[in-house]
Amino acid sequence: MVKLKKQIIIAGPCAVESQDQVTESIIQAKNFGVDFIRLSLWKPRTKPGFEGFGEKGIAFLVQAANAGLNPAVEPLIPEQAQKVVDQVLPELKNGKLMIWIGARNQNHYIQREMAHIAAQDKRIVLMVKNQIWPDEKHWEGIIEHVIAGGVKKENLILCHRGFVPFGDNPQGYRNIPDWEMTMRVKEKTGLTMIFDPSHTGGTVENVFRIAHEAYQYAIDGLIIEVHPNPSVAITDAKQQITWKQLRTLTDELANGITVKDA
Ligand code: PEP
Ligand code: MN
Repeated sequence: MVKLKKQIIIAGPCAVESQDQVTESIIQAKNFGVDFIRLSLWKPRTKPGFEGFGEKGIAFLVQAANAGLNPAVEPLIPEQAQKVVDQVLPELKNGKLMIWIGARNQNHYIQREMAHIAAQDKRIVLMVKNQIWPDEKHWEGIIEHVIAGGVKKENLILCHRGFVPFGDNPQGYRNIPDWEMTMRVKEKTGLTMIFDPSHTGGTVENVFRIAHEAYQYAIDGLIIEVHPNPSVAITDAKQQITWKQLRTLTDELANGITVKDA
């Protein structure tokens, strides 16, 4: 069992929704002691709907940085990433800024250009999720493209968020993890590999279950959706947990408590 102390915890809401929600998330994230606070401004959507706060929400990343937190955000296009970098970096002092590339928003152009932007300053960390299909060559290709874009390995983090389910899925996961492939990619690349139990699990119960499953392997941390009041969340309400639940989960993981199958 991996000791949680050395783990990276990235936590915060699925999407930025309001000033009040951000302010409360910042208080809770500081209180918890996260490594990064996730504050998503541009949401990839399966169906048309709320697409996020957009560019005007960069002020919330600045608010988080001024509060002494390290903000993390998923820009969909390089132009958005550059705006984040230009506005947040001057406010960071010794902190870090994470930009991440989501599972559903990738091609070699996005990968290389995002990496190019991330390479501008050593305080920028690039996190890259696997794509949605379970293909190791594609996953390795992502890493080759971002390295070609100039990002240094010490500023690069990988994230497993499962693959689109085909066939058996008795637990009803939103996406299915492949732990063997994940561990092979981690080993081959020597990169930090964290896990996203929120977009893999899809429900609060599954988030707990799958986070425990992940910690049977050499996972280096979690990116997890935490909302001050998940029942009113505009996006991914079913899978967001409270800050209290995050404390429970990380305590369980640190103590090596295993969730038993029902
Ligand atoms: C997210 O983390 O907000 C997200 C959209 O997840 P994924 O890219 O894994 O679908
Ligand atoms: Mn989400």
